[in-house]
Amino acid sequence: MTAEAADLRVTNARVVTPSGTIDGGVAAKDGKIVAVGTEANLPDAEEEIDAEGNYLVPGFIDPHVHWGLSRYEFDYHEGLAHDFETETRGAVHGGVTSVVNFLLQPDPYLPDMDFFRSVGAENSYIDFAYHAIVHQDHHVEEIEELAEEGIRSFKVFFNWYKHASPELGIDHSDAGRTYRVLDKVSEMPHGIVMFHAENEDLAYELRQDLMEEGRNDLEAWTEASPNVAEAMQIEQIAMLTEFTDSRSYIVHMSTGEGVDICERYQEKGVNVHAETLPAFLSHTKHDTELGTWGKISPPLRGEASKKRLWEGIRTGVVDYVGTDHCPHKVEFKEKGEGKHGDMWDAIPGDNNGIEYLLPVMMSEGVNKNRISMERCVEVCSTNNAKRWGLYPRKGALAEGSDADMVIVDLDKSAVVDDDFYHTMEPGYSTFHGQELTGLPTHTIVGGEVVVEDGELLVEKGGRDYLPRYDEGVPSS
Ligand SMILES: [Zn+2]
Repeated sequence: MTAEAADLRVTNARVVTPSGTIDGGVAAKDGKIVAVGTEANLPDAEEEIDAEGNYLVPGFIDPHVHWGLSRYEFDYHEGLAHDFETETRGAVHGGVTSVVNFLLQPDPYLPDMDFFRSVGAENSYIDFAYHAIVHQDHHVEEIEELAEEGIRSFKVFFNWYKHASPELGIDHSDAGRTYRVLDKVSEMPHGIVMFHAENEDLAYELRQDLMEEGRNDLEAWTEASPNVAEAMQIEQIAMLTEFTDSRSYIVHMSTGEGVDICERYQEKGVNVHAETLPAFLSHTKHDTELGTWGKISPPLRGEASKKRLWEGIRTGVVDYVGTDHCPHKVEFKEKGEGKHGDMWDAIPGDNNGIEYLLPVMMSEGVNKNRISMERCVEVCSTNNAKRWGLYPRKGALAEGSDADMVIVDLDKSAVVDDDFYHTMEPGYSTFHGQELTGLPTHTIVGGEVVVEDGELLVEKGGRDYLPRYDEGVPSS
């Protein structure tokens, strides 16, 4: 028994710790975890929450979101301020307590670093870090200095240039730029290059054929970018990663072929790892009722890929789950033509991922016995913290870590309706209409209860930018 009283303790929980799951609780003081153990070994605290035998897990970490996409209404910087508030409000309702957001602008990033730090600190409900999308030569030149500012992950769009979203202004990156970026980060502690692996040249040709045939269905969107379009890119990325002895990360991997390729290179000791999305673990191209809401990029696949992705998570080939949360209002997503409007013109991307991440992984993963609770916590929290240099400050229920934690009731369920989400646009996602079982009851950020039984208890702001340095993220 520690003499000094803590601020908060959660008791009567199944606590998922780095060394296993225990019956007991966690105590927090000044935003940090000060004790993990059986109730008798926890200090007294000013506030106590009885978890009623439910799981207590480290807050989930979403490594893949695109704040600022509400740029259809705002300019990019205004959009960032807007989305940090609205989308991280959804995050805390959903049990996500840290986020790594992709910076995306044609201008250099360095001159705006003060803004990027303050816009999150002032508007977010959770701590945040950044990846930078490098799609201009001047972005590549900024890499070393961005590392000094705490950004050490850089995303390359191999192949977005003919894509259906010219408004994003992403320029094409060829194998030369890919080589250059991989080479630059190879010596950088925590340096990672992230890839959207989809061969756009192939997809462009197929898309023309399908449009000429008059196809306008969800499966046509998949046929326009078949499994081989992802596989051939991953193969090339893995080869270049081996050649440069660097580290790469395939974002939103969608195919079973991708799992096979990553496994083959991982067995050779190449540092190529992959993230998948809840959508690819739950939906297929046959879910035609999704209409344009199911238009994501890369597209939904068949049953075989879905099965192989789950298998990859179980065997350790697929080590990360993110969401690719793209906050668009439904009228922009559908371009005003309704859910079953023009498939080719609709904006690609799913909405509300940061809020459905935990419920879907509980519902489809843990509750369906596809993965254990411990593996779920690894791929949605611990591994994400480790890959992005945030561990052990984030991603662990351990003494000294930030007291970011979530109580999960595996029996609690809800239908995803217009009231389910707490973001800018609760009206749609690929999970709309579905019942999800396994929901958070309490979300705790920095030792403070921010959401209890669906009620938001705090104001936005006062959160930390998480810079990743050589030695990782500094403690708060
Ligand atoms: Zn993305």
